[in-house]
Amino acid sequence: MQLCTPHFGQLKDALILRGLWEHQTQTAEETEKLVRQINNADDEGEPQVFDCVLAAQMLMFDQAVKQAGDHLLELNDAGDSLCPLCQMRLQASGTDPDQWINGVCDDVLDAAHKLGVMKVQTRQ
Ligand SMILES: [Zn+2]
Repeated sequence: MQLCTPHFGQLKDALILRGLWEHQTQTAEETEKLVRQINNADDEGEPQVFDCVLAAQMLMFDQAVKQAGDHLLELNDAGDSLCPLCQMRLQASGTDPDQWINGVCDDVLDAAHKLGVMKVQTRQ
């Protein structure tokens, strides 16, 4: 699964809006290490870095598979990964990508606060 360019753009905007965009791994090595830690926390220890894009996409992909099924993990006829939001929109006309993206980003924001990644800000 991979978000298509327009949906990734929407995700980016939603993360920027929440002040999360700057919280990303800086190098490919850091990202790889984080993925290993998430997948195999016991051996690699708890993750020390937070990546908002990775967190949002993992959450979104997980929810999408639960709702729409494993076929989202397949490739299309051209050999490309499927965009879960496009697929779900095709499958269920009630699926609103905006709502999905905002819901996931709110969850990531909560997680970032719980992990102490972000300074606590008072809402206005
Ligand atoms: Zn899409």
